[in-house]
Amino acid sequence: LFVISAMVPLMLMALLSVTYVRDTLIEQGQQRLAAHAKAYGMAVFGRLLDAAERVEHSALSGVKPGSSGHSPLPFTLLTVTSADNGPIGLPGRASDLVVTDTERARLEGGQPTLRLEPKDGGDSGVLMIVPFGPVEARRWAVAEIGAVYLWGDHDWWPSAVEFCVLEWSSLTPAHCAGPWPQEGARRESSEPTRSASPSIAWDNAGTPMRSALWGQFLKVGFGADDWLIVASQPEAELLKPAMAFGAVFVPAAVLALLAVVWLSLRLIRSTLTPLERLLNATRRIEAHDFESRVEVTRDDEFGELAHAFNAMTGRIGKQFKALNTLARIDNEILSSRNVEQVVPTILRHMCTLTAANAVGVMLLDHDNRLLARTSLIRTSRPDDVTTLRGTITDDECTQVQGERDGMWITIDSRAPDLLKAVLEPNLCAAYVFPIIWRDALCGVVLYGFAAPTLLTGEERTQVREVAARLGVTISSAWRDAQLYKQAHYDVLTGLPNRLLLLDRLSQEIVRCRRESNRCALLFIDLDQFKKVNDTQGHASGDAVLVETARRLAQCIRASDTVARLGGDEFTITFTQLNNAGEVHRGVNHVLAALAEPFDIDGQQTYLGASIGISIFPEDGSSAAEMLKSADTAMYRAKANGRGQAMFFEERMNHEVRERVSLERELHAALENNEFMLWYHPQMDLRTGRIVGAEALLRWLHPERGLVLPSSFIAVAEDSGLIDQIGQWVILEVCRQSKAFRTRGVAVDRLSANVSIRQLYKPDFASIVEKSMQRFGMAPASLELEVTESLIADRVVEVRTALSQLKALGVSIALDDFGTGFASLAYLMEFPLDVVKIDRSFVSGLPFDEHALAIVTAMIAMSHALGKRVVAEGVETRAQLTLLEDMGCDFAQGHLLSQPLPADEFEQFMRAELRGQPFRAQGELGLAMQPVSDASIRRACNTVP
Ligand code: C2E
Ligand code: MG
Ligand code: MG
Repeated sequence: LFVISAMVPLMLMALLSVTYVRDTLIEQGQQRLAAHAKAYGMAVFGRLLDAAERVEHSALSGVKPGSSGHSPLPFTLLTVTSADNGPIGLPGRASDLVVTDTERARLEGGQPTLRLEPKDGGDSGVLMIVPFGPVEARRWAVAEIGAVYLWGDHDWWPSAVEFCVLEWSSLTPAHCAGPWPQEGARRESSEPTRSASPSIAWDNAGTPMRSALWGQFLKVGFGADDWLIVASQPEAELLKPAMAFGAVFVPAAVLALLAVVWLSLRLIRSTLTPLERLLNATRRIEAHDFESRVEVTRDDEFGELAHAFNAMTGRIGKQFKALNTLARIDNEILSSRNVEQVVPTILRHMCTLTAANAVGVMLLDHDNRLLARTSLIRTSRPDDVTTLRGTITDDECTQVQGERDGMWITIDSRAPDLLKAVLEPNLCAAYVFPIIWRDALCGVVLYGFAAPTLLTGEERTQVREVAARLGVTISSAWRDAQLYKQAHYDVLTGLPNRLLLLDRLSQEIVRCRRESNRCALLFIDLDQFKKVNDTQGHASGDAVLVETARRLAQCIRASDTVARLGGDEFTITFTQLNNAGEVHRGVNHVLAALAEPFDIDGQQTYLGASIGISIFPEDGSSAAEMLKSADTAMYRAKANGRGQAMFFEERMNHEVRERVSLERELHAALENNEFMLWYHPQMDLRTGRIVGAEALLRWLHPERGLVLPSSFIAVAEDSGLIDQIGQWVILEVCRQSKAFRTRGVAVDRLSANVSIRQLYKPDFASIVEKSMQRFGMAPASLELEVTESLIADRVVEVRTALSQLKALGVSIALDDFGTGFASLAYLMEFPLDVVKIDRSFVSGLPFDEHALAIVTAMIAMSHALGKRVVAEGVETRAQLTLLEDMGCDFAQGHLLSQPLPADEFEQFMRAELRGQPFRAQGELGLAMQPVSDASIRRACNTVP
């Protein structure tokens, strides 16, 4: 376009110039030609006049043409004749010259005439008849004018101009060197006027020609037809100067064009290159590359544009990054509802927003807004989240909440201490922005700086954005929490409601199923609540319910759940039950707690409660079924007279009743001295001597007769009575030991069974010590048996207690060895002296290979660890012999004797001493001693 816009005017100008120049040149050439024609005509005419004069002179002087020795005559004098002559004979001519009348008249008037004589193939001859002599003797000289003279030497003519002389009327060429414009000449000759010399453009065999015409008058001078002088020249000749112009113009135009191209390119380059750079930079921005900048090399508008562009890129880059970060925060917030989880990630994103050295978020607790927790990360270590917990006062809350546009805090400024704590150890100031939800402060966003800084408006906006987003998260989390609470908790008591109860109970059921465990659901209904509500009003009713909730919460373990179903109905879920006794104990606690009087408007009112109990899996396989069963059981309890608990399953109620009465009876038994110890002899297998006995507890029930420990030890343990009973056993063993001694019965060792629960008592060892001291029993002759399967629970306490006993000099036996889970571990860990192989292993001997292998291993292992071994439950001689062979130290079992009352054991020992065996004769060891009423008692021993 540049080139075209330069070329078009150039060409137009050139065209115009060329046309104009051409026209001018042609016109000038035309004028020149006309002048040439005229000058030629005049010259010819002049020469004709001159020739006429000289002809006359020659005729007069009689000089013959050609004979003169001077200048050659320009004509050939043909003849001289007198006037009256007729035709004039011309020498060497075929015909004579006939003078026309007109000519004659002229000649007679003394005026020459002229005539053309056409000749073949060349110029016409020009004959001139000149009169001379006096009028009366007029003579005529006829001369042929020499062509060279008349027409002139061709070399004299102006260059490239051709002259042609024609007779006007006939257009017969008189002299013509070359072609001539016949058409043009004819046209001109027919024109009546012969004024201005016209010009003619014509074509000579393809060569454009220009001609000028000049009419030369001859009529007056020579009485002949006028001549037409034609001066011709090739048009090219006229335009020769224009050619030179062309020769200069073309290179000049080309040069101009080149100059235009070069300038255009320069200009285009200088515009396009920076534009291209800008374009590339724009593309980079499009591709989210905000880091690269446009190179600034110029000082012009483009330079300024580049500067502005770079500044804009930087700003957009920052904004983009900020938006990205905020989008990521949004994403984070949307993908997780847990504020606690989101905060560290949000903090990491916040690091990238400003040049802060640390960023933090302080969140107030939903339930107690004066508790706050600040999470802080330093931008240098974004993976370490520091958490500061503390309190914030109401005033501090109000202060921070008031600073809606954020505030700067330093260590000296008035600000919450929890926020100022963030400044430690190396921050000098922090910008704090409140997070507000529903006109209440719920947290704070803070940016810490190590050096004094100012935040730009943009940065402040970003901080506000982050705060707003956190506000959204917190608000949604709080709203969720509130909704969850409203949906799952009872508003009045704050206890879980039916929904949450069913949920937790379902989870517990799943767990029980997995672990083959049991759980229990208590359905509790206050007995007199309706009366309180009706008489004392709802406010009092509410107070009772709140108090009930408080009391129930105190009755449970951390794993249990108290819930309020509505009205005065509450539930308790007991989890991980080991035995029915635990439920019973729990229920008793609840009954006792609710049996306490309630303080209603200053009045002590007894309400009491009825409880229904369902047990998983017996009473229901789902939470709803459990609840229904417990509810049914509760109605039965109410119908049964209120203030009591009932199991859904009757059998359980029966068991509970049994248990309750057993407990009561055990109390009475202690008071009424109904317990006694029977002694089960132990034999030293190496000597075959009875060296000791295990004291076994027996209860002589006033109605039921002799009751074995398996029927009541568990209840005694559950109810806690075991402590008293156990103390009695040890005291009784010590007493009996002294009695044996004083009566001369040599018993090396007496062992007493000890419940693990007794070992939990820190003063157990001192009780044992006092008992031994009281009856002067040597510690070496007392052995305490601890059942292995029960140790697992509180290993540390058991080890301590056993160590203390050991320190007294008492020996310790591990009872029922092999039935627990950690037999070997206990062997290593506890200070044991004796291992009692359980009856279940001995009973397999001697035929069961497994039993044989196990017992062999047990004996070997115990011996390896320096323990003595007692085999329990030896019932056959084969077992005894085998055990003897295996290297077992002691044997105890029905083969030797059944457990015996003290007096019978004394007899047994005396018989032993005497060598008269007071022992079983039969293989099964059913030794039936003929001893007093003890036989009845022994019979009872076999009845559970
Ligand atoms: P244990 O300490 O393992 O006592 C051995 C039990 O096996 C005794 O039953 C005894 O009569 C029985 N027994 C011994 N040899 C044979 C035998 O050859 N054949 C058969 N069929 N049985 C035999 P008992 O007296 O009913 O005692 C049961 C458990 O009660 C005892 O097991 C012990 O763990 C506990 N126990 C007994 N007395 C006390 C006591 O004073 N305090 C405590 N805490 N527990 C006691
Ligand atoms: Mg025992
Ligand atoms: Mg045992």
